[in-house]
Order: sequence, then structure tokens, then C-alpha cells
Amino acid sequence: MTKQKGNLIVISGASGVGKSTVIAELLKKRNNICFSVSWTTRKPRDGEIHGINYFFASRNEFEHMIAEGEFLEHAEYVGNYYGTSKSQVMKRLEEGYDVLLDIEVEGAKQIRTNWNKAVFMFVIAPSFAELENRLRARQTDDDEKIKKRLARAKEEYKEIPAYDYIIVNDTVENAVKEIEAVLTAERCRKKERLHLMKEV
Ligand code: 5GP
Repeated sequence: MTKQKGNLIVISGASGVGKSTVIAELLKKRNNICFSVSWTTRKPRDGEIHGINYFFASRNEFEHMIAEGEFLEHAEYVGNYYGTSKSQVMKRLEEGYDVLLDIEVEGAKQIRTNWNKAVFMFVIAPSFAELENRLRARQTDDDEKIKKRLARAKEEYKEIPAYDYIIVNDTVENAVKEIEAVLTAERCRKKERLHLMKEV
């Protein structure tokens, strides 16, 4: 069987909605998918590890990487740069993995413009009030930062119509199930499987 090349999977959603937990669970359950570890100029949160959660860089380093064309997409979010390494993604797609990007809406727009085949999912909390609860429960940001993140989330929700799927993160288990259903359906698409019909 010809090896199927992987799909680029873009997952967006307001910060605090629980995307990282959902993605971590998803990665445990499926073996043909890998996570693209982003570069950022944001400071590491407690427990975050360089190379696992993010590659942490200074603004200078990041701007140098932009100039060298090393990013598939990059954006500034609440005062920090975030970007996806082009070489890392290309390598994994060639190997047949689905590559999952956890990126905000501006980066997703760039992927939509520059990439001809990607699946776009937007993760939401069951309500906006619940999103605020989750941000406060995380206890990583002060009140001013939380307000900024909520204001940004409102702006991001306006971009939802450009996405293919909306995933509701009421429980992690349900959200993972919904994403898995999408990934399986995408792998079964006719254009992905016509090569299996060669002898007919
Ligand atoms: P956080 O600081 O909470 O880890 O992430 C803030 C936002 O940055 C999240 O919405 C996340 O999806 C987004 N983000 C993380 N990595 C990237 C990236 O490589 N590119 C873009 N455009 N956004 C990213």
C-alpha cells in the first residue's frame, strides 16, 4: 500500500479553554499523529519544559528566525511571538504523520492562505462564562491579563466561520472523541484513498 502522507491539523481556541489537556490526551490515544512544538518568546509557565511544551526564545532570536524564513506561520499574541517551525512540520508530514498545530487565529489564517490541504478545528468551552472560570482556575495570570485574554477570545470567536469543525470541550473525553472522529473521517476521504483502487 502506498504510504499516505499525513494531514496538517490546525486546532485553535481561546487560551484557557483546555486545548493543551485535550491535545495531550489525543496524542496518548493515536499513534499516527504528532504535535508541532511551537517557538515562543513568552516566559515558561511552571512545569513547562523547553522542547516539550514550547521552544522558548528571546525576541531577538525569534526575529532572526522570521528573517531566515524558518516559520510556516507566526503571530503576535498578547505581547509575545508564537511560531511554527517549517522544517519540523514538513519532515513529519513526509513520514506519514498527521501533524497537529495548536495555534491562534492569525496563524491559522496564514496556513489557510499558504497551504492547500489542512483541517481546521476550533475548540470552544460550553459557554463564555465557563471559559472565564477556567482561566481564573488556572491561576497563572493576574486580573489584567485575564481581561486581555477574554477580550482576545471574543475577537477570536469572530473567526470561527472560517473553520471546518467546532469541537465542544465540555469534558476532555468528549472533546477527544470529537477530534478523533474528524481525523478518521479526513483519512477516509476519497482523494486520500483513490490510490487503493489502482487495479480496478
Ligand atoms: P499560551 O500562551 O496560552 O500557551 O498560548 C497562547 C496562544 O498562542 C494560544 O491560543 C495558542 O494556540 C497560540 N499558539 C501557540 N503556539 C503557536 C504558534 O506556533 N503559532 C501561532 N500563531 N499561535 C500559537
